[in-house]
Parts: sequence; C-alpha cells; structure tokens
Amino acid sequence: MSKIWTIKEILNWTSDYFKEKEVDAPRLTAELLLAKVLRQNRLYLYTNFNQPLNKTELSSFKALIQRRISGEPTAYITGEKEFWSLRFRVNKSVLIPRPETEVLVEQVVNYIKVKDLKNTVNILDIGTGSGNIAVSLASEIKNAKLFALDKSFHAVITAKENAKLNNCDEKIFFINGDTFYPFKMKRYFDIIVSNPPYIKSGDIKKLQKEVRNFEPLSALDGGEDGLCFYEEILKKTKFFLKNRGKIFFEFGLSEQGNEINKLMIENDFQDIKIVEDYSGNPRVISGVVNL
Ligand code: GLN
Repeated sequence: MSKIWTIKEILNWTSDYFKEKEVDAPRLTAELLLAKVLRQNRLYLYTNFNQPLNKTELSSFKALIQRRISGEPTAYITGEKEFWSLRFRVNKSVLIPRPETEVLVEQVVNYIKVKDLKNTVNILDIGTGSGNIAVSLASEIKNAKLFALDKSFHAVITAKENAKLNNCDEKIFFINGDTFYPFKMKRYFDIIVSNPPYIKSGDIKKLQKEVRNFEPLSALDGGEDGLCFYEEILKKTKFFLKNRGKIFFEFGLSEQGNEINKLMIENDFQDIKIVEDYSGNPRVISGVVNL
C-alpha cells in the first residue's frame, strides 16, 4: 500500500530534497508549489498541517517538483511573483521581477515625495516587461500618469493584466513599441524609468540555468558591453524629458555605473547619483537633464 502523505510530511520531505538538489530557498519553494497544487495560500498549509494529500494532488505536486528540479523558475511554475508587496502574473514572455528593482521604484517614489510634485507626473517606463515598475508606481503615487512601453506584444498584454489585477489600469497607457519610436518628439515626461536588458552578450552563457534557459533573452541581452540600451535611451531622452526632468536606470555590474555616468554627462545630464541595493551593490543611477 502506498504511503499517505500529510502536508507537513510532504513539505519536510520536499524541502530536504530541494536542499540536496541545491534549489534556492528550498522550504519556500516547496510551500509555493504545494500551495499552487492545493489552490490555497501558504498560510493554509500551516493551518492544515495534518491534512492528507489525495492521489491527484500528490501526482500534480510531483510533476511540479520535477519541473523545478529541471531548472524552471518557481515563479513561472506558479505563474506569480510578489513585487512591491503586490501580486504579479508572470509567464515566459516576461522577466521575473527581482527584489533589487524595488530600489529603483523606491528612488522614484522618494523623488516625487521630496520634490512634492503636485500636478500630474508623467512617467515613461521603457521595457515594462510584467509591468512591475509601472504598476508599483501607479499604485503608490496618486498623481502619476504612466506610459508603459515594451517591444514584446506578449509582455504588454501581461503588463496590462497586472495593472488590472492591481486596480490601476486606468492610470497606465500601454504601448507596444521600441524605445521612443511610438512618441512624437515632444518634451512631455517628468520622469523616465527603465530597467533595460544589461547582461553582456558574452556573459549570457554564464547565467544560472534558471535564467538562461527560461527567461526571455530579449529582456536580458544588453549587447556586447551590456550598455546598448542605455546608450540608445540616453541619446534620445533629452528630446522627450522636460527640462530638469529626471531619468532613473537600474544596472547590473558596478563598473556599468561608471560607464552610464559618463554616457549621462555626454548627453547633458547632471546631478548624477548612484544608489546601492540592499546587498550593497551599486544598482540605480539617476540624473537630471539640463538643456
Ligand atoms: N521592467 C521589468 C523589470 O524590471 C522588465 C525588465 C526587462 O525586461 N529588462 O523586471
């Protein structure tokens, strides 16, 4: 007779198994996958520790364990990721939101609060992906009007869905297009924000298999030096940002911070500031256009 597994037992077994297979956050991963199978939240697991799993649940759970072991990220398996304490749907056409990107959102939010901008703040998010940045800003800032742009049609659809899910779709315009291409050359935006693809093409093969094999290459590959999108955006930004308007970028490696700083100076930006993420890595650069 096959063994009856309770929630508690299967969670313990799975988190040991994930540990052995060197899966990140083994216990949390086990919980998220089991919660998905049971169509419940994680709290339910703790309040129903002794509930036995039926055969169907057990076999669905085993299938999800296999997917995770083969490298598929947990967020793609569950179809969800938390960011800025909000829920985001994710799928293989969008990058999974990273916690360090919250620093970018935080910088923009602080800037608007400190400047006490009272009128509508027009913000453009270039490469919106799942819409995590645009949706977080729209839900945080009352007087924000957002334009969320992505060249991937499927990403735009996902971002739109996330705006609806978080009740801020009325404040965001979604556009399927490349950098500034859909916009008339008008100095309209108060803020431009972007977390562009910044991995050097040659480094893609060195990424974790979870990222390399599953996340969209177009959201990762920043060209030979990882800087091609910063260059392109900075070259054109001054024609779209109001005078004294501000740009905020996330970047990857600390040396990229110095390179982007140079590019910003060449393109009429000043008051340039680099901020670290919570692991102490330089992560966000911002500057004001003076033209
Ligand atoms: N804006 C999204 C994020 O920060 C997508 C970024 C990207 O695709 N490079 O996660």
